[in-house]
Amino acid sequence: LILSFGSVNIDVTARARHIPKPGQTIHAESYFIALGGKGSNQAAATGRLARSLPVRAALAGRVGTDPFGIQARKKLLEFGVDLTALRDDPDTPTGLALIIVDDTSGENSITVAGGANMAVTIADIDDADALFSAASVLMLQLELPVYTVLEAAKRAKQAGATVILDPAPVPEGGLPAQLWPLIDIITPNESETLSLVGLAPETTEDAARAAAMLINRGVRATVVKMGARGVWWQDETGSGFIPPFTVTAVDTVAAGDCFNAGLATSLALGQNLAEATRVAAACGALATTRYGAAQASPEWEDVAALLRH
Ligand code: ADP
Repeated sequence: LILSFGSVNIDVTARARHIPKPGQTIHAESYFIALGGKGSNQAAATGRLARSLPVRAALAGRVGTDPFGIQARKKLLEFGVDLTALRDDPDTPTGLALIIVDDTSGENSITVAGGANMAVTIADIDDADALFSAASVLMLQLELPVYTVLEAAKRAKQAGATVILDPAPVPEGGLPAQLWPLIDIITPNESETLSLVGLAPETTEDAARAAAMLINRGVRATVVKMGARGVWWQDETGSGFIPPFTVTAVDTVAAGDCFNAGLATSLALGQNLAEATRVAAACGALATTRYGAAQASPEWEDVAALLRH
């Protein structure tokens, strides 16, 4: 079982000729409403990959009892995600993300209103006890109160799971000191790597240095995502560079979430970090070829086909 403990949002995405500057109003060609939030994206992308595999995806977290919450649940179920530990919060609205995508470059600008995600407490983890005990991989991100992320990492470690942290967004002041040694694999992108260790991984040499610095903080392994430039991984067995898969990127929203879903799925299948990083890079690359967040995530068959190339 692969458990994601994290945020659930509804994304309202407008596509425009460019991202507006402060004070500017621009006309968007179109907009759409979709499932978002890093916790939910990672669970949904895992659910889709898992469809033809002997693994299961589950999500623990919170949504409101508003129409967005109902919509989020319905979509997650379509991805095959176990929602037995997704709580309904009658007092707080479902998390919301306002996204603008630049039609030309595919770059995005995002504002997140946390809503029910920020109302998650330790009681949500207690409720998800059966899933925490059953999970072989736990996926964490930082769109929930950070003390709950810390507690979830502790529980999963005790139960013997592999803990993956996507350090997004990096909190002001960095990660709590107690969190580092509870993480098996940290998966920062370029800007998160810069925030965490003060070094932007623009070359593989810099990525290797950054990965070593992250391991010095106490994590077991590091996977540094460099967007279209590839990925650097390091663990106790070694390190290496995974060159990017060549694709035509149209929308990079949630590429990192699909990447982490691929990483978790491959690890749950018993593959090693080098293999899992390649699977992850293929998932991330495929996700950029389609619009949207979780709905841009690939099927396992498409990933396998890209890996054979
Ligand atoms: P995030 O979405 O967290 O910002 P990245 O932008 O680094 O993370 O994207 C995640 C992963 O998706 C990358 O490490 C890479 O494997 C893949 N990816 C992203 N953009 C491209 C691209 N243009 N071409 C190929 N792969 C890409």
